[in-house]
Amino acid sequence: MSEQILVTRSSIPTLEEYIEEIRPIFASHWLTNMGAKHKQLQAELCTYLGVENIELLTNGHMALELTLQAMNLQGEVITTPFTFASTTHAIVRNGLTPVFCDINPDDFTIDTAKLEALITDRTCAILPVHVYGNVCSIEEIDRIARKYGLKVIYDACHTFGETYRGKSTACFGDASCFSFHATKVFNSIEGGAVCFRDKKLGSILYELKNFGIRGPEDVVSVGANAKMNEFCAAMGLCNLRHVDSEIARRKAVYERYVERLDGVDGLRLNRIQEHVKPNYAYFPVIFEEKVFGASREEVFDKLGANGIIARKYFYPLTNTFTAFHGKFDVSLTPNALHISKRVLTLPMYADLGLDVVDRICDVILSCRG
Ligand SMILES: *Cc1c(COP(=O)(O)O)cnc(C)c1O
Repeated sequence: MSEQILVTRSSIPTLEEYIEEIRPIFASHWLTNMGAKHKQLQAELCTYLGVENIELLTNGHMALELTLQAMNLQGEVITTPFTFASTTHAIVRNGLTPVFCDINPDDFTIDTAKLEALITDRTCAILPVHVYGNVCSIEEIDRIARKYGLKVIYDACHTFGETYRGKSTACFGDASCFSFHATKVFNSIEGGAVCFRDKKLGSILYELKNFGIRGPEDVVSVGANAKMNEFCAAMGLCNLRHVDSEIARRKAVYERYVERLDGVDGLRLNRIQEHVKPNYAYFPVIFEEKVFGASREEVFDKLGANGIIARKYFYPLTNTFTAFHGKFDVSLTPNALHISKRVLTLPMYADLGLDVVDRICDVILSCRG
């Protein structure tokens, strides 16, 4: 049997390119604590993302968690359950209460028509997710946030390199959080970043990622340890050089999937939104069992039997996690529940051969009746 096809495969530079990048670290013995590579990646990301303010962190989760802490929020945060565990955990770990808004079934982002009704006098912020790289309803979220004086923090982990109406997705809301985890479009092995509007937030984040230390003799907040180290920053510098060509190769994979699966009865593909320059981060497919002739579970199992590992992403919903047993009512987010039971994300990465895409599609189509 041939090699397993996983849902993703991390982008890496050549070994030689990485060695050149880390050579100065061996000369300086400066391994972490905001060294030269950290500073360089920070500057290059500002240019690439078109932002003035960015703080680098150990991962996307700490980006979310420390951003909420830096804003000194209290009360309720409106978010969606159709996301990775991290989004909800960042809220709960800050002692805040998540209030789950449903998603709209077309692009899987927060349904702004249902958002306003969830606002109470305890609401302090909105934490929407740009799911699969689909950009949330920025203008409407902005309008609501301004009307009620709420902070907006985007989980932008899926949108690295994307623009909306020509503007980087790092520019929206009060802050946008990115993940540079190995599985993402752009990776620094592990890593993350926050892009933000108010420069004051940056100095608070800078302290929070280093235990709240302000000087040799002063600790001003109860921070964590979330500093990106020099080896991760060096990997980020290498991968950033190639990210545009990686996205271009993902596009070819995307187009082959669309060619093979678009228009098949009972399958729904993720549409590229108007005004969005996409990054082709994921390839989700919604399976409507009665029309297609096979359930998501059957397709998942059959792919697995053929050495193809797809993912039920996002399933289960975060508001049904065992960790939150009895706390949330999943019937309040029916669209999210419907999609989470039917979605499968197919293998998607720059190196994925088009012949393999064909094989994956053959297996999927063979599941019909
Ligand atoms: C990857 C991801 C995170 C967490 O990022 P890490 O770098 O793995 O900590 C948070 N939210 C979403 C939507 C993600 O995809």
